[in-house]
Amino acid sequence: MKDTYKHKGLRKRLIEELIHKGVKDETVLQAMLHVPRHFFFDKDFEDFAYDDKAYPIADGQTISQPYTVAVQSSLLQLKPGMKVLEIGTGSGYQAAVLAEMKARLYSVERKKSLYQKAQFLLNSLGYDVQIWYGDGSQGWPTHAPYDRIIVTAGAPEIPQAYLEQLKPNGILVIPVGDQDNQRMMRVIKHEDGTIEKQDHGPFRFVPLIGNEGW
Ligand code: SAM
Repeated sequence: MKDTYKHKGLRKRLIEELIHKGVKDETVLQAMLHVPRHFFFDKDFEDFAYDDKAYPIADGQTISQPYTVAVQSSLLQLKPGMKVLEIGTGSGYQAAVLAEMKARLYSVERKKSLYQKAQFLLNSLGYDVQIWYGDGSQGWPTHAPYDRIIVTAGAPEIPQAYLEQLKPNGILVIPVGDQDNQRMMRVIKHEDGTIEKQDHGPFRFVPLIGNEGW
């Protein structure tokens, strides 16, 4: 697969659109400028890779809208070298953006075909991401605690396991609501263990399935 001047131009235009929509985090914008989003698309949809829209990938799932990726990545307030858990690897695009931001990334996907495809693609692009095929609705205890946790599927509630697997001063970004509409929540676990929840507006995700999901 090639990353041509045309792709790079379309990507630059997408980044300008995100800035116009209010995305300010320069590290996130630079990462998204570098990651070739069309590599994460099925051939049939490749021409739409630089539209600011979610698109179908395999198994009834979606690659998140670039604006959503930008908002979630910004809310994480990530610093290089932080240990990050992503729930819902999907296409691997969000993982690539976080890896580009120098996260030490662990990602969980419960659909085998997506897990296999994302693992192959991320490895071949040179991103060092550990991926687990399993139910991430209870996190990934083996590598806990994490500095940051990002959930890219809609949860009915905030799973307790995520709070337990977060370090003090850690941040969890998770869409919470019903199966059609969620609110983007940023949850901060303060040094003394108290939990602060901030609402960052409406979003739509496919459901988080599993023990602590739907
Ligand atoms: N981050 C992805 C990307 O960049 O393409 C988008 C993810 S898609 C909106 C949501 C993903 O969450 C799907 O791939 C779905 O299979 C996965 N998922 C749903 N429930 C899950 C669970 N309990 N554990 C792990 N992955 C889950």
